Amino acid sequence: MSLTDKVCIVTGAASGIGKEIARAFLAEGAKVAIADLNLEAAAATAAELDPSGARAMGAAMDVTDEEAVEIAVAAVAARFGGIDVLVSNAGIQIVAPIETFKFADWKKLLAVHLDGAFLTTRACLQRMYAQGRGGSVIYMGSVHSKEASLLKAPYVTAKHGLEGLAKVVAKEGAKHGVRSNVICPGFVRTPLVEKQIPEQALALGISEADVIRTVMLKETVDGEFTTLDDVARTAVFLAAFPTNALTGQSIVVSHGWFMQ
Ligand code: NAD
Repeated sequence: MSLTDKVCIVTGAASGIGKEIARAFLAEGAKVAIADLNLEAAAATAAELDPSGARAMGAAMDVTDEEAVEIAVAAVAARFGGIDVLVSNAGIQIVAPIETFKFADWKKLLAVHLDGAFLTTRACLQRMYAQGRGGSVIYMGSVHSKEASLLKAPYVTAKHGLEGLAKVVAKEGAKHGVRSNVICPGFVRTPLVEKQIPEQALALGISEADVIRTVMLKETVDGEFTTLDDVARTAVFLAAFPTNALTGQSIVVSHGWFMQ
């Protein structure tokens, strides 16, 4: 089980979980494309993680933009020689109760999580199938692929939806040796979560400490946040797993918040 010279695209990799996965993949010998909205941020992350410039590249990719996805995936395949692993990780969060949720915000969130997953999957599968050397598609789900929370209607909807997409990719990809799985983390302290703490405190009328204690970590077995390293290790395991035995699955990494 090795990622040596595997070509990996990680979306949303200029920050948080995606950046840590890119770091872990590079440590395992992979070639990694850091795909994100802003080329400067993606290129800076690539330079930080691989100062030699030989095995990491930045790629400008708004995952909701069909043409941008096609161009970026083609550029990565041309530079590194095909695509072996996709981590569809780019994501945003918008919290509000359903009765006042703006339709534009609903559509924006679904576009990043679901359109982005579809467009990047399609572009990468075309290469994986043509290359004939198999591949691994990993979706960044969430405990919210399994459970609901207040104020997160489109996020919970999208994260449940990714499980369906992963299962279809597992079925269609099998004959090409392409596996597809979902990682479902609990709360990880990234910019996406730091932003939610004051927003939820305001919306729920409680303190920020209580948002962490009584909302975010309430159902965990030990009151602990999941770490970037926990999620990155799981991504390495799924990316490197050698057979179709492990496909169409979701792995929950959440300190027991959700138990299968
Ligand atoms: P983050 O905000 O630190 O990073 C998200 C990255 O995605 C950013 O670099 C951002 O620029 C990028 N991005 C946003 N929209 C994009 C678009 N349209 N095209 C390309 N890139 C885009 O967030 P994070 O916490 O690292 O989240 C990463 C993923 O993990 C998300 O899918 C999120 O839902 C999921 N997740 C996070 C947690 C958590 O607790 N942090 C838990 C479960 C799942």
